[in-house]
Amino acid sequence: MEFDGIRAIVTGGASGIGLATATLLRERGAAVACLDVNDAPEPFFTAKADVTDDASVRSAVAAAVEHLGGLDVLVNNAGIGAQGTVEDNDDDEWRRVLDVNVLGIVRVTRAALPHLRGSAHAAVVNTCSIAATAGLPQRALYSASKGAVLSLTLAMAADHAREGIRVNCVNPGTVHTPWIGRLLDKAPDPDAELAALNARQPIGRLVSAEEVASAIAYLASPASGATTGASLAVDGGMQGLRLRPA
Ligand code: NAD
Repeated sequence: MEFDGIRAIVTGGASGIGLATATLLRERGAAVACLDVNDAPEPFFTAKADVTDDASVRSAVAAAVEHLGGLDVLVNNAGIGAQGTVEDNDDDEWRRVLDVNVLGIVRVTRAALPHLRGSAHAAVVNTCSIAATAGLPQRALYSASKGAVLSLTLAMAADHAREGIRVNCVNPGTVHTPWIGRLLDKAPDPDAELAALNARQPIGRLVSAEEVASAIAYLASPASGATTGASLAVDGGMQGLRLRPA
């Protein structure tokens, strides 16, 4: 996968899967801008924005496109988690998570589409999750948000196929990012919790952010030029083998 001449925006690029994706695309020759509420580390250009704020998204996308000199690839990766059953999250929490995970993608894509239309290799990759289809316990709100990301991926792929804009998603399982680090830190014994998490994966270990980044890069590259409306599992076998985390 070569990205020479490809210009990419990665949302949530300051951490975890987004940072690994920005790093990989850059190593392979792409010009990359991160769109995040936090600054991405050197050497990345960060267009600061909260994806829940339409005005800040529009100005950040414009700043990123100006910095890059155009746009070929959009990676919609910014997202937040939520735990619990439908009884555990109130309406405000539902609105907050859907606002980031679903409407965040809508806002950034809406701002990016006019620029993607100018590209000969336009691709959008959304970071979804196995939660979209796995029926995970204690993840009602998060699962609903990622179910919407999956549907949105299909609908956007249909709407923009004839314009030459491909839209796909990756479905990670449990990925060792700062997000999981924060969850582990809350456990009474983080090392034991990590060992238990590893043991629950069909491949015996968590997925790395770099492994998800590879899948995103494939879907973003002309190497996947005939693939649109697809979702690629990067979950250590969890979905395909019908195993669930406890
Ligand atoms: P992370 O917390 O390490 O990184 C998320 C990034 O998104 C951060 O840089 C954060 O600042 C940014 N962000 C959050 N809210 C934002 C907002 N409102 N506006 C702009 N930026 C915002 O998390 P991660 O594990 O790398 O997760 C990235 C994506 O992968 C998310 O969409 C998540 O749902 C998905 N995912 C993660 C896992 C996992 O196990 N880590 C599994 C499946 C899917």
